Amino acid sequence: MAKTLGPVKRKFSPWTDPSAVPFIRFENITKRFGDFTAVDNLTLDIYEREFFSLLGPSGCGKTTLMRMLAGFEEPTEGRILLQGKDISGVPPYRRPTNMMFQSYALFPHMTVEKNIAFGLQQDKLPKGEIAARVEEMLKLVKLEQFAKRKPNQLSGGQRQRVALARSLAKRPQVLLLDEPLGALDKKLREETQFELMDIQHTLGLTFLIVTHDQEEAMTVSDRIAVMDKGVIVQVATPAEIYEAPNSRYVADFIGDINIFEGTVTTTESALGAPGKVTIDCDGIAVAVEQGCQAVSGDKVAFAVRPEKVRISPDQPADTSVNAVHGEVWDIGYLGDFSVFLVKLADDRIVRAAQANVSRLVDRPITFGDMVWLHWPLDAGLVLTR
Ligand code: ATP
Repeated sequence: MAKTLGPVKRKFSPWTDPSAVPFIRFENITKRFGDFTAVDNLTLDIYEREFFSLLGPSGCGKTTLMRMLAGFEEPTEGRILLQGKDISGVPPYRRPTNMMFQSYALFPHMTVEKNIAFGLQQDKLPKGEIAARVEEMLKLVKLEQFAKRKPNQLSGGQRQRVALARSLAKRPQVLLLDEPLGALDKKLREETQFELMDIQHTLGLTFLIVTHDQEEAMTVSDRIAVMDKGVIVQVATPAEIYEAPNSRYVADFIGDINIFEGTVTTTESALGAPGKVTIDCDGIAVAVEQGCQAVSGDKVAFAVRPEKVRISPDQPADTSVNAVHGEVWDIGYLGDFSVFLVKLADDRIVRAAQANVSRLVDRPITFGDMVWLHWPLDAGLVLTR
């Protein structure tokens, strides 16, 4: 499959507009299975044309939330509004939603075009219209030359696109995708992510995707909701989730991060600028420039991403930066990046990632070297929960 370039990230942020009306609203939704609460008093707004991801570990309630929107489950409490209207009791086939399952659920005995046409025939659309839509969908997912093949004569990526075409053929307003790329290998997954974004953008639909793959969520989404045990912990754009996680849970769940527990020692408020907070992390004094609610004596965590930590054999000349000294304990060579695990005198491990911008085979820093790790005051975060 030819690699396609993804759409240019659009200027699109209706959630920042207080007058924007949400397309989908989950309002105080609770779902219980017996005495187990799968979704717990959850409220969430999703806007028209948004590519929205539900991200979280297995069992956190992502699929249950999506199934309630599709109409396969009813909430125990709360309401789901679509364009302002309560859709409780509306059967799945009468909702403007369509769900694409991870298994694709294609009919093995039917050709690609018959698979795509199936739902339209069920809806008793005129033959000419069905043929026109099937042709349109085959073109959209670039499978025109595979129309007469059966699913077992297709690759995994092609089957995924048939499933996508079949879900889109009925022209839903909202497409629900449950782990849509789970069966694809990494490279094909990445290519298909861009294709999905292209298709969503071209058709101007609202996409809600369930995934436990954080890279996938970061790539495709306008916004991500990070879930834990039936609740949403943070809803934000991928960049905000990564750079400004609101809790230890989100910081730890998304990407790689160093987290140190500590106690606030001093806070300074600066006019018009984030104040400086100093934290004692069990003997390591860390300074952070970040406006935060913490006050002296508060138990907090300090978090810094490995790629924001510099590594050098010499002590940094600038004494205002944060710096710790330790021994290179392990090196993970990832091709584009190397990750250095540095052991401090008290056995704590700090990770620093460095881009491999030159093709040096002999790295200047290696196992057993004593090194300095340092990061500026604005590189890390204070996490109060
Ligand atoms: P995964 O990524 O593994 O699919 P998920 O976040 O989508 O996980 P859900 O499928 O929404 O998780 O399930 C949430 C919780 O609700 C799980 O603990 C699951 O066992 C439970 N659950 C889901 N459906 C039912 C059901 N029909 N009866 C009882 N418990 C259920």
